[in-house]
Amino acid sequence: EHHVGSNFIHDIIDKDNASGKYGQRVHTRFPPEPNGYLHIGHAKSICLNFGTALKYGGKCNLRFDDTNPSKEETEYVESIQDDVRWLGFDWEDRLFYASDYFGKLYDYAVQLIKAGHAYVCDLSADEMRQYRGTLTEPGKESPYRNRPVAENLDLFARMKNGEFPDGSRVLRAKIDMASPNLNLRDPVLYRIMRAHHHRTGDEWCIYPMYDYAHPLSDAYEGVTHSICTLEFEAHRPLYDWCLDVLGAFQPRPVQIEFARLNVTYTVMSKRKLRALVENGRVAGWDDPRMPTISGLRRRGYTPEAIRDFCGRIGVAKADSVVDYALLEHCVREDLSPKAPRLMAVLRPLKVVLTNYPEDKTEDLPAENNPENEALGARVMPFGRVLYIERDDFMENPPPKYFRLTPGGEVRLKNAYIIKCEEVVKDAAGDIVELRCTYDPETKSGSGSTRKVKGTVHWVSAACAVPAEVRLYDHLFPLEDPEAGDEDFLSRVNPDSLITLAAFVEPALGAANSGDRFQFIRHGYFHADPDSAPGKPVFNRIVGLKDSWAK
Ligand code: ATP
Ligand code: MG
Ligand code: MG
Repeated sequence: EHHVGSNFIHDIIDKDNASGKYGQRVHTRFPPEPNGYLHIGHAKSICLNFGTALKYGGKCNLRFDDTNPSKEETEYVESIQDDVRWLGFDWEDRLFYASDYFGKLYDYAVQLIKAGHAYVCDLSADEMRQYRGTLTEPGKESPYRNRPVAENLDLFARMKNGEFPDGSRVLRAKIDMASPNLNLRDPVLYRIMRAHHHRTGDEWCIYPMYDYAHPLSDAYEGVTHSICTLEFEAHRPLYDWCLDVLGAFQPRPVQIEFARLNVTYTVMSKRKLRALVENGRVAGWDDPRMPTISGLRRRGYTPEAIRDFCGRIGVAKADSVVDYALLEHCVREDLSPKAPRLMAVLRPLKVVLTNYPEDKTEDLPAENNPENEALGARVMPFGRVLYIERDDFMENPPPKYFRLTPGGEVRLKNAYIIKCEEVVKDAAGDIVELRCTYDPETKSGSGSTRKVKGTVHWVSAACAVPAEVRLYDHLFPLEDPEAGDEDFLSRVNPDSLITLAAFVEPALGAANSGDRFQFIRHGYFHADPDSAPGKPVFNRIVGLKDSWAK
């Protein structure tokens, strides 16, 4: 399993291997900017980069693209490493930071200046924008473009030494102000910015731009195939230019673009996810409704399910939106054979079995997962007082309602057939209790042949454990939360979290944070880190009904 199916990128690698372009070396990297938590889109890139290295017996680096200090933090650096590891990938001893290369990148910039390929420009940001031209109009050359090399060297050194205010000067590549590709109209390579960097502190007051730092970092690390998302396609000539004019690192890496992942019912960029966190629309980056890796993990998704999802969506050149239901399908497929199936009553209704002796209890055997015998069996305590689901009783049922009704019968799973004899209501007219009788001849597994249409789950009141259950729905009620003019922040689904006081069978009371179960008829659940001994908290990962259209 390589976590990524064959794709056009592998075709390119196969060709390179056939021609011997890089020997037989395949070296990729995953280069997150540590300005937020990773999301499911990043998982696609992680599976692609690490999976490709695994497939070809190559290497994949984890490199923090930390050249933009104002938005970066150590918290993100740590969460990103946790997430990549949790997904099941290993960078071994190849953890790098673009900021480790600040010295080298500076030296390369000096080389570019000496070779006449870069100059210090004093235009303001506004003026630069005006000079750049448009798609239909060529740009105008900066009056500083033909500064002598010696003056450029002097000014660049003084930029570095902190002699000039922020934004007053930049270092620019000298390429072509008439290029049809705006990225080649003398792009900025360095800017002056007094910002504290999470690793280099206040050592630097000039910082390299992504388009300059990235190709050099790739090349320096020996990367062969630099895989990125489509929006960088028009930057590729600049990627190539940086490496070609320096002449080092031959054969240089190639940049290959693929379509980024979008998923229905959610937004997918760190900036937008951060806005949800900072505006208090969710509890944090790891809120189980978030499409972040940490949110999915807390919700209860497995790494296997996410890798399976990334394999199924494929790698293409054209943008598309993937149905959230596919992600849900993948976690159901993974958990169906793995998760023990137990009973939890989410909205309890008390049932008293009037003909069951007061002091009697029984331990009834129950299979843990009929799909997987290896998960064994357990016993469920049974007694006179039970809870069933409120929804499993109706006083005035519609036709074809096969659960409990006044005078009607239903089977308690793994137990007996019961009959509802009396409905007890409080002063407000709400149903508070059902008084039922049980048929001792109908014990499950006893060979009883009496059949009823409905089977419901239950827990014994004496032994049930109270549990908090959190039910989640899509964070946004719309497939495209950004359709139209309304701000996506205002569109958060107010019913996306429902908290219930449930009763679970004793075996679930002993759940440890991280355990996953199927609650029979309710879906798959994950014991949340908020759980305490004897006080479990369960997140619903996904319901049982699969809406993925195959
Ligand atoms: P965001 O817009 O969410 O901040 P980004 O591209 O700016 O995303 P980076 O930290 O630079 O975030 O991303 C690291 C790597 O993950 C990059 O190679 C990027 O192309 C890739 N990546 C980011 N988002 C997606 C996505 N939705 N689908 C696939 N790959 C992605
Ligand atoms: Mg980026
Ligand atoms: Mg970004």
